[in-house]
Amino acid sequence: MNKSFNVSLLPGDGIGKEISAEASKVLEWFNQNSELKINLKEELVGGASIDKYGVPLTDETLKSISNCDAILLGAVGGPKWENLNFEKRPERGLLKIRKELDLFANFRPAIVFDALASSSTLKTEVIKNLDILIIRELTSGIYFGEPRGISQIDQNNKRGFNTLAYTTEEIKRIAEVAFEAADTRSKKLCSVDKANVLESTELWREVVTDVSKGYPDVKLSHMYVDNASMQLVRNPKQFDVIVTTNMFGDILSDCASMLTGSLGMLPSASIGAKKNNKCNAMYEPVHGSAPDIAGQGIANPLAMILSIAMMFKYSFLNLEYFNLINKVVNKILNNGYRTKDIFMEKNNLISTQEMGNLVIEELENEKI
Ligand code: NAD
Repeated sequence: MNKSFNVSLLPGDGIGKEISAEASKVLEWFNQNSELKINLKEELVGGASIDKYGVPLTDETLKSISNCDAILLGAVGGPKWENLNFEKRPERGLLKIRKELDLFANFRPAIVFDALASSSTLKTEVIKNLDILIIRELTSGIYFGEPRGISQIDQNNKRGFNTLAYTTEEIKRIAEVAFEAADTRSKKLCSVDKANVLESTELWREVVTDVSKGYPDVKLSHMYVDNASMQLVRNPKQFDVIVTTNMFGDILSDCASMLTGSLGMLPSASIGAKKNNKCNAMYEPVHGSAPDIAGQGIANPLAMILSIAMMFKYSFLNLEYFNLINKVVNKILNNGYRTKDIFMEKNNLISTQEMGNLVIEELENEKI
């Protein structure tokens, strides 16, 4: 099995830089203490790239990251660049990476760590031991469909419009990813659509059902999105893997993420098909650049460190180190250490850097 990997690190803006510094320490620890050889190359994206080059992602950076094995990204954006026109904003850099590398499958796990079960706004018994995975289609659907725009109907009246369209191939490939994922977990897959009123998702249901014939061990169910949003809050543990369209996935995964109590704990992966040795995966925390706390050393670096765990699992196919990072994070939380976002009475309040150091300390305590 390959043990040497080229990883592009894109810290981005705001707290992205602070949490990336802690992520680098973790990757360096694996370099020093495991058989993995991770060649880390840092690049600019978002506001940091605008400040230096005038664009949120240069062609050179895109080319460079396209040739690596995986991308690890902090977060982009901030008030400094908010007034730029849409095409020039930091977030366009991120969207360009997703689109250019065709990262069509977005994995968003919502896992409740034991020690944090009481910090959710939901009752502890509803969310304790929650471990679900939402797989969102990321490069098609209503966010990309044409035609789109705002047209003038008459002097006082405009019309805003978008197009929701999916092809059989687009649905098939995300369904296959979801069935593969469900097959490695509890073999339960729920496909979420609005097939009763939207033809594009009527096709979605038809294709997902068709793909299911190739995965006889996985039990497939279908749910309308309005019901799914209600069920996610009522009884989230009824789900294991959910697969859905771009927009429904955007909304449902944010809802699911709040079941876990903090944005600072949530990693994600965006994965595409492996084509011509091009990079096919990007890992990043779900949260943004948090300008309100940037530069204060109080951001939670665990979402980014858990994103490294996902990289080990999905890009390096190394479950052992995926489990190791999760175990270490669990231990730190069980020992009562918390950054400000997850701090509760009687916990030990620590900084971004101290959390990173604790992860290294606990990794040292584990024999690998
Ligand atoms: P945000 O996720 O940055 O912050 C929301 C709230 O959560 C803030 O109060 C913030 O302090 C807190 N928070 C987020 N991450 C945290 C962490 N690791 N530790 C502790 N607290 C944390 O969302 P926002 O404020 O809506 O957006 C800020 C900027 O980030 C905007 O420019 C937005 O466009 C951008 N953004 C980028 C990404 C990305 O890069 N993937 C995602 C979302 C938003």
